[in-house]
Amino acid sequence: MKKLIIILILFSIVSCATKTSKYLTSNDTNNSKQTEDKPYVLLISIDGYRWDYTEKYSPKFLTNFMKTGSSVKSLRPSYPTKTFPNHLSIITGRYPMNHGIIGNRFYAPSIDRSYSLRDRSAIEDTRFYTAKPLWVLAEEQGMKTATYFWPGSEAKIDGSFPSYYLKYNHGTPHDERINTVLKWFKMPKEKRPHFATLYFHDVDSAGHNYGPNASETEAAVHKVDKSIERLVHELNKLNLPLNIVIVSDHGMAELDEKNVELIGKSKKVKTNLESFKIVGKGPLVHFYRSNSSFKYVTRTMNLINKNAKHFKCYKKNKTPKYLNFRKNKRIGDFVCIADRGWSISHEPKSIPKGNHGWSQFEGTDMHSILYAKGPNFKSAFKQGTVNNIDIYPMLAKILDLKIEHEIDGKIKNTMPLIKE
Ligand code: AMP
Ligand code: ZN
Ligand code: ZN
Repeated sequence: MKKLIIILILFSIVSCATKTSKYLTSNDTNNSKQTEDKPYVLLISIDGYRWDYTEKYSPKFLTNFMKTGSSVKSLRPSYPTKTFPNHLSIITGRYPMNHGIIGNRFYAPSIDRSYSLRDRSAIEDTRFYTAKPLWVLAEEQGMKTATYFWPGSEAKIDGSFPSYYLKYNHGTPHDERINTVLKWFKMPKEKRPHFATLYFHDVDSAGHNYGPNASETEAAVHKVDKSIERLVHELNKLNLPLNIVIVSDHGMAELDEKNVELIGKSKKVKTNLESFKIVGKGPLVHFYRSNSSFKYVTRTMNLINKNAKHFKCYKKNKTPKYLNFRKNKRIGDFVCIADRGWSISHEPKSIPKGNHGWSQFEGTDMHSILYAKGPNFKSAFKQGTVNNIDIYPMLAKILDLKIEHEIDGKIKNTMPLIKE
């Protein structure tokens, strides 16, 4: 009996240690014959990992990875510096105004539907996505792909899902994520994905709850570092021509609870705002007109701007040009953009200890990382800041995928990282 119990305990330990999540399989095709000889790319996203965390917190694995691989001083995110817009910019090579996910939350007048990262049916709605993710480009060219979470991966875009993907589950333990990725790369070569993603939220969550300088954020950095170290250690044993690319979507700013400003304090403005749909708080707020005329929009916006101290409102298509945040009907008829470190809202709201979403051109708090290592990358190479839209053409080049549609990113900016 005692023996049986020991066997059962051992069995449960072993099965726990190798637990893999059930993933969805969207098609049963094989890699094309030409694809089998192509390299592999694993793209890992550490949400909210600010560009200077490696120096600040000295995580063992990432420090070594950055030094021995190819890296940039910082990765400049796209505006607004939020999770969904930037994951989509990285994976499509387009600015948010062109890939359609112009925020974590917004309203799309053409389909009369609101988008929110917390609304599963919205994030699965194809109609929101207006650019081609790298996994779709690859699948179209006979290459199998897999995503262990990535914003947009649960929607059918241009007729394709990744061959293997999962519905987002915030609580999935790191080991489960890692074991599934390992399982994918251990598949027979006909079925093995040549492009895969992996996502960790921990550093962003700690940054919001405790701030970028807190010991909890430092601990989250070390936790993710250890998980990636374990994964890479196991992947190295497979002897595949595998490139590992580690990115983050944006940085994190420390907030002072005093730096909060209400939009429209006067009774008149409050009344005017009743005819607008208002979306957002913190660094950026959208105002969508309901039945009001454009004149009314201008009048309301001017009234707000008159008393604004730490933010400025712009009409749609008149936001600062360098933000590339124009020409999309999903942007409010006017938007209010807060100064760096300031939070704005049309009604009193509490603010977190840390946040992001401000302009990527005011200071470097919003900047993120790009480190890469593998047979297609230069070793011990570092270059200056690049834009996150420039990653897509670089990954397509490594995977030998043709890009025949319009993108915003430029290969010349990321080319120096690649071995000729
Ligand atoms: P934020 O800090 O508000 O820009 O967003 C970060 C949050 O996005 C994370 O804490 C996750 O909860 C959420 N998130 C990240 N990826 C996904 C996804 N693929 N689907 C749904 N939610 C996600
Ligand atoms: Zn994020
Ligand atoms: Zn965040």
